[in-house]
Amino acid sequence: MVNVLTHRGAKIERSIKTPVKVTDIVSQSVLATNGIWDTGATGSAITKTAARKLGLVPVAFTRVAGVHGAEIVPVYNVLLTLNNENISIPVRVTEGKASSFSIEGDADVLIGMDVITRGDFCISNYAGKTVMTFRFPSLETIDYCKEVELHNRCLKIHEVNIRKRLPDKCACGSGKEYKNCHGKSIYHK
Ligand SMILES: [Zn+2]
Repeated sequence: MVNVLTHRGAKIERSIKTPVKVTDIVSQSVLATNGIWDTGATGSAITKTAARKLGLVPVAFTRVAGVHGAEIVPVYNVLLTLNNENISIPVRVTEGKASSFSIEGDADVLIGMDVITRGDFCISNYAGKTVMTFRFPSLETIDYCKEVELHNRCLKIHEVNIRKRLPDKCACGSGKEYKNCHGKSIYHK
């Protein structure tokens, strides 16, 4: 079964934050917090505060580059549950500083590429609203090229229709007027 998580922002968002539940694989203790999605982070991370609250026991230690040079930090095995019970991913998280995750301080998890690459991840910003959607596991390749070609073809035919004063049906074959179909989009502007 493929599961999906969609985050609909009320405006353009500078960071993508969604509810996350962290479960200690050993003790089964659970912490409900938020996670920041970060394509610039190779691995996921958790704050020291969250690790203490959960009573996590390190499974390893690793060297990370910090502001004051390299430091040795603990690594934990946890289960990350992303927004609904259906997307639960076992992850090895590195302990990090809260200040590097979230300015508001209400996020204890950094969701890195180790999680993002397990599924398909898209961000769109149509009509001034940031929407993030993530499906797990990966289903197929998403590529806007074909979609944009169709938009551009519809626009060209629309311009011809207007010039020749012909009925302005959308060239995609929907049977709708261009202005109510592909012309509704940003490509019309
Ligand atoms: Zn159309």
